[in-house]
Amino acid sequence: MGEYIDSMRRIYLDHTATTPLDPRVMEVMHPYFSGTFGNASSVHSFGREAREALERARGTIAGLIGAEAGEIFFTSGGTESDNLALCGVMAASGSRREIVTSPTEHHAVLETGRRLEEQGAVLTMMPVDAQGVVDAEFLRARPGDGTALVSIMHANNETGTIAPVADIAAVAHEKGALVHTDAVQSAGKIPLSVGDLGADLLTLSAHKMYGPKGIGALYVRRGVALEPLLVGGGQERGRRPGTENVPLAVGFAEAFRLSIVGMAEESARLRTLRDDLEQEIRRLFPRVLVNGDPENRLPHILNISFGAEDYPLEGEMLVMGMDLEGVAVTSGSACTSGSLDPSHVILAMGRDAATARATLRFSFGRWNTPDDVGETARRLKNVLDRMLGGPAHNSL
Ligand code: PLP
Repeated sequence: MGEYIDSMRRIYLDHTATTPLDPRVMEVMHPYFSGTFGNASSVHSFGREAREALERARGTIAGLIGAEAGEIFFTSGGTESDNLALCGVMAASGSRREIVTSPTEHHAVLETGRRLEEQGAVLTMMPVDAQGVVDAEFLRARPGDGTALVSIMHANNETGTIAPVADIAAVAHEKGALVHTDAVQSAGKIPLSVGDLGADLLTLSAHKMYGPKGIGALYVRRGVALEPLLVGGGQERGRRPGTENVPLAVGFAEAFRLSIVGMAEESARLRTLRDDLEQEIRRLFPRVLVNGDPENRLPHILNISFGAEDYPLEGEMLVMGMDLEGVAVTSGSACTSGSLDPSHVILAMGRDAATARATLRFSFGRWNTPDDVGETARRLKNVLDRMLGGPAHNSL
């Protein structure tokens, strides 16, 4: 078996988890690890060179989302940016104590919200429909005068469903609340403008867009009050102390720039690959369920479930089975103390636990090819044949 796997072409379809570093990004980062190594806060020429590179990167990122450079704060990634947005706003929100979010958010938002709730905040969940979409009307129907922050992700990392952030922001602002959106998955995939979205805070992460791991940013609209999470230095205008990571910031900016330059063509290409795989899987398994908003979703994500009644199988084993076939996918499940929990996103959309466990997320990226589509479908069929005991189920 080992030899079989070694000789098998592996297929990576987990670009929502992370992306490989683009070699062009590696190239621009390289000089800042050794030659131009200064501390961006030093006043001498070494420091000034580093500072110039850092500020250029900041300006590039700002320009790509319609912000000003002074509104971009570098962090260690999406998780930290989400934490900083929620904790930072709540620490500065005075008598407004409510955070409104949704059950399909990333854990970086959900768990931060829960921690703030333990500390006295009021946490309110906006319901989602069967396609994972939140409705701005929920906000409109509530008093909202105690709401400090509404945090709704731009696009979901499991299903790709795109939220009506602009509509939500319009209502939230009428109620005097700030709006944060986690755009980790949408950045570089679909147009992104803080003005059009009406976002006061927005989270980005470099490693989802062929940039380095360990760096992200939080956009904070000028004038928004935000307390830092960390103390101990004045970097990032006091909002994120710690020596700035210049090589990673440079790589982040270049990765984002490259994603935007070719976005229209690449999104169309990814959509074709994704739709072809969806069609092929539906042909093989006619009763497969597709999760998420069929129209309004990111172009590269396909999330499917095998309904427990139609396909009686051990859902937890699907990802493992695909891995043995050399295809890297995920179920969207979090691995907690050795057991696979069903995805909170798929459950929130109304699927039962067994079906939620029998879920696979395929996410395409820059180096996937049409060959990967047919090959993935073929290997999925192998896995299902084994799990269901032969090819008889194909007529299902
Ligand atoms: N937000 C979303 C929507 C994500 O998909 C992820 C990554 O899984 C994160 C936040 C966390 O980002 P990072 O890995 O940079 O901490």
